[in-house]
Order: sequence, then C-alpha cells, then structure tokens
Amino acid sequence: MADSAPAFFETLEMLTLSITEDPMADGFAAPLEFTAAIEAETAQVWDKVKHHVTPMEWRAQAPLISAINRLKREKNAAILAHNYMTPDIFHGVGDFVGDSLALAKEAAKSDAKIIIQAGVHFMAETSKVLSPEKKILIPDLKAGCSLASSITGADVRLIKERHPGIPVVTYVNTTADVKAETDICCTSANAVQVVEWAAKEWGVDKVILIPDEYLARNVARQTDVKIIAWAGHCEVHKRFTASDIADMRAAWPGAEVLAHPECPAEILEAADFAGSTAAMNDYVAARKPAQVVLITECSMASNVQAESPATQFIGPCNMCPHMKRITLQNIYDALVYEQYEVTVDADILDRARLAVQRMIDLPPPAVPARYDLVKARHHVDVELI
Ligand code: SF4
Repeated sequence: MADSAPAFFETLEMLTLSITEDPMADGFAAPLEFTAAIEAETAQVWDKVKHHVTPMEWRAQAPLISAINRLKREKNAAILAHNYMTPDIFHGVGDFVGDSLALAKEAAKSDAKIIIQAGVHFMAETSKVLSPEKKILIPDLKAGCSLASSITGADVRLIKERHPGIPVVTYVNTTADVKAETDICCTSANAVQVVEWAAKEWGVDKVILIPDEYLARNVARQTDVKIIAWAGHCEVHKRFTASDIADMRAAWPGAEVLAHPECPAEILEAADFAGSTAAMNDYVAARKPAQVVLITECSMASNVQAESPATQFIGPCNMCPHMKRITLQNIYDALVYEQYEVTVDADILDRARLAVQRMIDLPPPAVPARYDLVKARHHVDVELI
C-alpha cells in the first residue's frame, strides 16, 4: 500500500492536468494564454490586422489563432474564409479566402478531410455539393442569409410551371434545395454571361434569374435578354441608398466608389465601378486609388486594406449579422468537437451539382465581373414574379 500511494497521486495529478487542459472534459475550454512563443508565431498575422484589432483583443485572439492552426494540421482540416469574415479569421486562420464559389471550388481541390466553412450555411451546402466525400462543418448553424431564405425549391417548381420552356438561372447564394431545381447557377461575376448563354442554349429571349431582385435588375441593364426576377434581397446591400453615396462624395470628394451588384440599381448608377467582391479586390490592387469606398459588407474593406496599405478605405460599415456569427471561438470549437456537420440529401446533392457544374464548365468571362456603368445607368424593366 505504502508503495502504491505515490503512484495513485501521480495518476490523479495527471488526470487533473488532463481535465484542466482538455476542453471536452467539462464542456468549458481552459483559457488559452498569450505567450511570447505565440506572439512570435502570430507576428505576421498581427501585421495584417493591427489597424482593425486592438492589442487587448489580440491577446485573446492570437492564442486561438495558434490553437486553430495546430488543430487543422492534426486533423487534416482546412478553413474556407469568405471575404466578409472579420480580419482575425480572414488573415489568421483562412487557408482559402475569397467569394463563395471560389471557396467551394478550393474545397473540392483540397485533400483535407474536414472543411470548416467560415461563412454562411448556403456556402457550406455548396461546398458539400462539390465535395460530397468530405466532412463539411459550419461553426454556427444559425449563420443563415436573408437572400437564400427568400426562396425554396417548391417556389422554383411553381415558377417553372408558370413559365414553361424558360431556363432558370439561380444565383449561388441559395440553398442546395433551390439549386437542385435550377438549370444553371451564376455568381455576380458571371451572371450576364450565364444569362446570355442560357437564352442562346434554350433558343429563347427571356430567362428567369432568381432570387436577387437587384442583381436581376442590374443584369437586365447589361444584356438584351429579358429577365424574369424574384423579390429576394440581401439585407446588407439593400440598405445602401444613393443619398449615402452623395453624402460620401461631399465629405470625400476624391474617393472612388465601388459597388456590388446586389445593391439597388440607383447605387450602381452613382458608382465609379461595379463588380463582384473579387472584382473590387482586383480594382483596388490594380489602380491603387488614394481613397476608396466599398459599397458592400464592411469586413471586405478591412481585408482588402491589408494588401493595399497605401489606400484609405472609407466606411460605410454595413455588417452582415449572419456572417458575424462566425468567430474564432466557434471555429475552434468546431475543430475540437467536429461540429456542426452540414449534410445534403443525396438526390438534391446530385441535381444541385449539375447546376453548379454547368456554370463551372463555362469559359471564364473575358472581363471578370465588371458591370458597364454606361449601360447600368440605362433603365430596363424586369418582370417581377
Ligand atoms: S451579405 Fe447578404 S447575401 Fe451575404 S450572407 Fe449576408 S445577407 Fe446573405
């Protein structure tokens, strides 16, 4: 007995240590410490985020970034970080960064077994559609989207009944259920090209472009194809008004205004450039304007700024509440607990993949994502369902 006592206490001590350090044991993770080693390891990330993160916040974020990057290596996981993620996520833990389709394509090419979608639910579904064999996780199941939730697969079936023989083009910002009812998907970068391809392929002069009304109206001004639209909206881009732009121009007369085509047409009419998030990024990198206003979700400006330090980015800051549900903490939890897995019904998955793949197989547009502003200022009506 006398000999066994030290061994018992040694075991107890080891057990106590493992309980303290194992975040799964009691449901609460031990606080991660900001050590000199972690400070050195994350120094390059700090350099990119220091204009948006205070030193006090960084002391909490850097240990999480370090822990997430370690867990990714241990579990063969990759993180897809959308352009609208906060800079700590975008620069700190994202293995692939970009718009939703670019991310889904990267997920399909990656040999990672686990994919964490730092974005919203429809994006995780798109990743699953293109990578059915991988485990796709989303850190918060409530990360939805006002645009994606504006329409269902049943709605699309009714639309097709009302408009037989008219091709259905669906924006990628939709659920897999909606994509499964679709002839071909599009992004804001290739919507004009896809609409024109569908009209030609079906031999018609009219195309159904759903669910974003504003994208549909902006596309209608770029093409001779007539557009049937759905009254869905992105709650972030919908909030911008032409008077916001007028106010900004009055306050910063030299600033260049770049708008996303999910905005109302009056915004594109007032902008200096219109295009997808990738196109905005390219514009700033290539032209290096002294001052720029990005009319889109506000984290985009923070993320682009790291690559274009000479440019001054001016608000406004309209945040997407769904994107902002994703945090370093719940990405860490997603990796530790392998939660929350996103699955798609096999039948829906195969049909949705056809619609996405059809778009991927089209040649890339000659001038990616740029909307012609002369045409954008010319009013064209659309038929609203
Ligand atoms: S920014 Fe708009 S389209 Fe994107 S997830 Fe948020 S609500 Fe949806």
